[in-house]
Amino acid sequence: MKENRAIYPGSFDPVHLGHLDVIRRSTQIFSSVIVAVAASKAKGPLFSVDVRMQMLRDSLGDNPAIEILPLHGLLVDFAREQEVFTVIRGLRAVSDFEFEFQMALMNRKLEPRLETVYLTPKEDYTYLSSRIVKEVALFGGDVEKFVPAPAAARLKQALFEPEIAEQARLRQKS
Ligand code: ADP
Repeated sequence: MKENRAIYPGSFDPVHLGHLDVIRRSTQIFSSVIVAVAASKAKGPLFSVDVRMQMLRDSLGDNPAIEILPLHGLLVDFAREQEVFTVIRGLRAVSDFEFEFQMALMNRKLEPRLETVYLTPKEDYTYLSSRIVKEVALFGGDVEKFVPAPAAARLKQALFEPEIAEQARLRQKS
């Protein structure tokens, strides 16, 4: 069968069940998928790229159809390096559409070979985002229903880091 690869880029800070659902669906369509973990410094991530990649590895197990790589620069440069020009993005709701549409068109201007494919998760996961999961965890809520076990463990651990615990306390006060 012809190699039919795709890149699924994102921050994955941390990976949650919506992401895993999109990855699972994409492996049914593509022969292999590169999960590309973007540094996303502007978003002020809670976890380093290395930790985010480790959480993905621990959650996905050993699957030869899935590769997890860091993504430091532009997605189009990464696509050229990998020689993979299909990008997967998840669409949860109409609210995602405008940003995703803009990104897809910009990426296509930068690299005309790039095509973006959108996958929709199971409805149970449409409300999930890494941001909301972090909020719940930092307020001491139970996130085990929303993230795979390795990410839940890391989120719990993060609460014991003095700087993060202090941020959570400040948020609870405000
Ligand atoms: P980014 O910082 O690039 O938005 P995220 O890690 O938040 O990265 O998400 C990566 C990709 O996964 C994006 O395409 C996003 O729309 C998609 N995604 C995020 N949450 C969900 C979800 N609950 N269901 C389906 N797709 C999702």
